[in-house]
Amino acid sequence: MTESKSAHDKVFAELVTATKILINEGIMDTFGHISVRVPEDPESFFLAQKLAPSAITVNDIQRFNLDGETSDNRPSYLERYIHSEIYKARPDVQCVLHTHSPAVLPYCFVDQPLRPVTHMGAFIGDAVPVYEIRDKHGDETDLFGGSPSVCRDIAESLASYPVVLMARHGVVNVGKSVREVVFRAFYLEQEAAALTAGLQIGTVKYLSPGEIKTAGKLVGAQIDRGWDHWSQRLRQAGLA
Ligand SMILES: [Zn+2]
Repeated sequence: MTESKSAHDKVFAELVTATKILINEGIMDTFGHISVRVPEDPESFFLAQKLAPSAITVNDIQRFNLDGETSDNRPSYLERYIHSEIYKARPDVQCVLHTHSPAVLPYCFVDQPLRPVTHMGAFIGDAVPVYEIRDKHGDETDLFGGSPSVCRDIAESLASYPVVLMARHGVVNVGKSVREVVFRAFYLEQEAAALTAGLQIGTVKYLSPGEIKTAGKLVGAQIDRGWDHWSQRLRQAGLA
């Protein structure tokens, strides 16, 4: 029990650091949240209680089952079903992040697909899928991921990709670890900004299928370097 408690403490600390990094790097705003599957129990995940992200500490983490339910009686995020439905649909996923990543947002409402244009974006694959809430729910919804049925469809749109966009709302990143998801969120933001800039100055040459495959493997091995760099920037900013 003590061993599992201290293992959980490490996981909670990583979630808090990830949240701080995402805020400090301009990826997470007031409404983002990041979760992680419970290491010894794939049917559960950890996510902070409903708070402003910058206020979250290790004491604010709640445990949910894969229906998004918790026995913790503190308030929970309404969008927790984004997390629960993805964990249910994707056994390979260990971490889920929802943000309104600013440079990515335009790709939630234009007909231009978000595709990789540099080696750092190779992990994206051919193009980021977009979940369109209007397909089933018409054009009078709140555009929110607040119900299990909407979030089941978000997970379906995600399919086997590392990221899905919610039309006219935001971004969901997934991965095999908290660090991988932070890395992907940072480089998705950077890739979107690069593509937007490129589209304004000329014809874009996207990564080829072979480059996506080969560069994806190379960059995927650099995740800890990114984490160390962004953690150091937190310390320099007096935030850690
Ligand atoms: Zn949102």
